[in-house]
Order: sequence, then C-alpha cells, then structure tokens
Amino acid sequence: MGATDESFIGESRRPLDIAHLTRTLTAPVGPLPKVTVVKASPSTNADLVEGLKEGAQWPHLSALVAEWQTAGHGRSGRSWETPKGTALTVSFVVRPRGIPNDRLGWVPLIAGLAVVRTLKHDGLEASLKWPNDVLVMDPLKRRLSGWGPARKVAGILCEAVGEAIVVGIGLNVSQEEQELPVPHAISLALAQSTNLDRASLLAGIATELGSLLSLWESEGGEGSVPAEVVSACDTIGRAVEVDRPGGSHLSGVAKGLSPEGGLIVEMGAGWVETVLAGDVQLRVE
Ligand code: ATP
Repeated sequence: MGATDESFIGESRRPLDIAHLTRTLTAPVGPLPKVTVVKASPSTNADLVEGLKEGAQWPHLSALVAEWQTAGHGRSGRSWETPKGTALTVSFVVRPRGIPNDRLGWVPLIAGLAVVRTLKHDGLEASLKWPNDVLVMDPLKRRLSGWGPARKVAGILCEAVGEAIVVGIGLNVSQEEQELPVPHAISLALAQSTNLDRASLLAGIATELGSLLSLWESEGGEGSVPAEVVSACDTIGRAVEVDRPGGSHLSGVAKGLSPEGGLIVEMGAGWVETVLAGDVQLRVE
C-alpha cells in the first residue's frame, strides 16, 4: 500500500480513539504521566500556557493532544494551518532539571530531534532546520528558493511559563499538496512515508522526547544530546540568510551551534556572529 493510496490516507484521518490513546500513552503502560486528548482546541500551546498560569497541574512530560487545532500559531503569532484530521498537534509540558538557564535554548532543538528520530525509524531522511523546524526531502527533489529540495514537515513552538516550558509540535501527516498552506510545506503522505498513524507517531515522539530529555539532564545540558542535535542539523555547513527582528540581515555560512543553542554564522575570514533563536527567519542558499 502506498502513502498516497486514498484508503491509506482515509484511515489516517479517522478520528483518534481517545480512550485507547489515553490508556496506551499514560504510565505505567506508556511513557507519559498525564495525557489529555480533545477533539478541538484553538491551540494546544495556548491552552497549556493558560492552564499553567491558572495553576493547573501539568507534570513534566504531560501532554495535550488535539484532534484538530483551529487557530494554531508559530512564532510571533504567525499561523500554523492544518486541516481537520490531517496532522498531529500536541503540546508537552517540560520542566528540565539540573539544566543551566542559558542552555534552555536547546529545548526546541531536542523536541525537533525527537521528531527526527521518530521519522527516521519509519525510514524517512529527516533533519533539523535551526531553530525550530523538521525537514524531509521532496521525493521529486524539486528545488525551492531558500529551501533547496528540503521541505518543512513539522514546526516546534516553545513558550515559557515560570519554570515550565510548553513545547508545541505540529506534524503534517496526511495533507495533499492543495491542503498545505505554503509551497515549502510537505506531509508524511507526500514524502511517501509508510506510517501515517497519528497515534503511533505520537507514541514514538513522546518516547524519544522523554529519553532525550532525561539523558540531557543526566549530562547537565552538555554531551551526547547536543552532539546528536548538531549532527541532525541540516543548517550547519550551509550558506544561510538570516533576517533578525528589527530588520537587520546576515549572510554567511552556518558553522555550528553555540553552548546556548545559537547558530554560529561566519560572514568572512574571522568574522563570526552567534544568532540566538528569538524571532529570526532563516533561509539556506
Ligand atoms: P519559516 O517556516 O518560514 O522558516 P518559521 O520557522 O519562523 O518560518 P514559524 O513561525 O515557527 O515559522 O511557523 C509559522 C510559519 O510556518 C508560517 O508563517 C508558514 O510559513 C508556515 N506554516 C504554517 N502552517 C504550516 C504547515 N502546516 N506546515 C508547514 N509550514 C507551515
């Protein structure tokens, strides 16, 4: 059965089995301490941010999953659009322990790595685009300005509430080309993945996120997890164009990631700047 097979896509769009999902994802059977699955939410991030501000109990790695996100957003209020039943939209509450504050900029990259690991497990060539996107290849290798043959299959949005970080993940699963909002977007179906099962994708991402975070914590925010992020990051080694908030612009070559998770960009011999995620927009040449 192919990923673009209509019945395969139809199967993927069937409503999530809320009782089954909750049972299999929640400890002791699954990896999460608490999972809430709702039919619709304007934005799972906004709901969790509001809940946390009101004092609701969301322990480390608890998750809010929405069958349909009706007003999803990216950074700076940009919209994140996914038609009903076509995407995985989930937000986790993360409370890193033993990590210095200046290393928390790695959290969106580690969440992206959890998605990359899950997609690789299903045989896809997935990578990170610094600071908050997950890429897969267009199977036809068509090139787009600023993206080359890579396409955005998932976006990550992190928002801090006190000590907690709300980590939102939007993963395009079964959209057809005309259901995607921008030309540089792709879905797992269009990338010819053999796994369009949103429940199994969620279980994979939750498990990977949990194990990456506990390893990262045990290594005090250094060590093998940042190293794996660097090796999964497609941005490094490429010529990049960076637009910063306020209108300033940098052109150079991405050389690596700083201890804070910033992108080190070399503009010329010996002229290097570190760009922190903030609200930069980045394109590769
Ligand atoms: P870009 O993706 O253009 O580099 P960004 O990483 O800063 O920007 P975010 O603000 O995190 O993006 O996400 C919002 C942007 O993502 C939107 O402006 C739109 O370009 C794109 N987008 C919206 N919905 C989707 C989707 N379902 N799949 C892929 N991209 C999307």
